[in-house]
Amino acid sequence: MSSLRSFPYDSPMSSSRRTVTKRRGEQSEARLYFAAKLAWVEGATFRRNVIVTVKDGIIEAIDDAGELSIPRVAENVCDCDILLPGFINAHTHLEFCYCKSRLPRGNVPFSHWIEAIGQLKRTVRPNEITRCAESGVQELLQGGCTTLIDCTTRPEIFSLLATSPIRHIILWELIALSSEQAETVWQEVLERLSLPRSPNCIALGLNPHAPYSVGPHLRKLLRRFVEENPHTPIGIHVGESLDEKVFFETGTGPFQEFLARHDLDPAFTEVPRCSAGEFLCRENLWEFCHYLYHLNYFTDNDLAAILPFQTVVHCPTTHAYFSRAPFPLDTLLQRGVRVCLGSDSFATADTLNMFEILRMAARMYPQLGGTQLLELVTTLPARGVGLADHNPPLGVIAPGAAADFAILKTAAPPSDDFREILLDPTTCVWATYIGGRKVYELR
Ligand SMILES: [Zn+2]
Repeated sequence: MSSLRSFPYDSPMSSSRRTVTKRRGEQSEARLYFAAKLAWVEGATFRRNVIVTVKDGIIEAIDDAGELSIPRVAENVCDCDILLPGFINAHTHLEFCYCKSRLPRGNVPFSHWIEAIGQLKRTVRPNEITRCAESGVQELLQGGCTTLIDCTTRPEIFSLLATSPIRHIILWELIALSSEQAETVWQEVLERLSLPRSPNCIALGLNPHAPYSVGPHLRKLLRRFVEENPHTPIGIHVGESLDEKVFFETGTGPFQEFLARHDLDPAFTEVPRCSAGEFLCRENLWEFCHYLYHLNYFTDNDLAAILPFQTVVHCPTTHAYFSRAPFPLDTLLQRGVRVCLGSDSFATADTLNMFEILRMAARMYPQLGGTQLLELVTTLPARGVGLADHNPPLGVIAPGAAADFAILKTAAPPSDDFREILLDPTTCVWATYIGGRKVYELR
């Protein structure tokens, strides 16, 4: 795997060029100082002119600039316009980076898109998958992303992320409609769940793809597993398309036609006549699904069933790609549902850049204030299963938290309103830090 050389890995904590030595008795301690015109601290407020001190990849202190005299030696001080916690991308499929601009878009039946990606998968070369995924990781870092949750079927992606600086959870994807397929897929995934993890791999979990692509036998195997391992992170695509909704409610429509065309059995023996979410509840699987991807279509029963530890992941890019009806964000937020943002993949999106996706969300949801938008990629996803108990804490600039930063630059002095900053066309990601190490800088 040659991906490491492609990352602009700068390690201020280990390089003498970038460290300053402060004498305290006999001890020498290396620190970095982030002097910010504006910083979002404690996941609560914007503070002007602060200095964030970092030691060993952890935030040590936050002080007003006037109160702290720092040793300005070499490059131990990073002057920045706007200091934010690194962004958390709660949904990607890096293995599909090669699909960029190669699949149907717009208001097409979802089953046509599935057929097109199936065809592309059969012709792609493995080295193309890895090469494109490497570029995808670069784009994530350029967009201020420091942590991601990736769904994959491919060990190459596991290896690629292990050699990248990005913190991650990998959810192994499960798709099988027949019993035979289910046994094969399940054995493979059990082995992958016990692979040794790199230090930046936070957890390994499962992505039973969707209620329509996980058949009865695979559901049985999965149920047995999650009952014994309830803390394994699980993410599922649910209530994503109108076709899926029609299929679960009536057993007809483009999904049924797709299955018939390919001589496949549906995932259910009797038409559920309910939503995909209600179907998961009946199958005793809903309460084990920590990440609900998309949930564009849901019933009152689905809404009532959402549990405090569950996270709905909305992907504005995918929503726009398929020209979908407006996402019912307000309904979810009013009910206190935790919603966060994901980029999804290049199979359904044109960018993995989380800053651009946040900007897109600002345009799509004018009712959201600047800090509400910021929460969608920081504090809210940080409360998700697998991330919430991470030590050091992620998604926040606070003493003791990970020194993961997305640093923005603007042409004008930063406004008091983060929404304005986001929509200002001169604002861009200037640098990204993970654990106090610079992993991207705009050149
Ligand atoms: Zn997805």
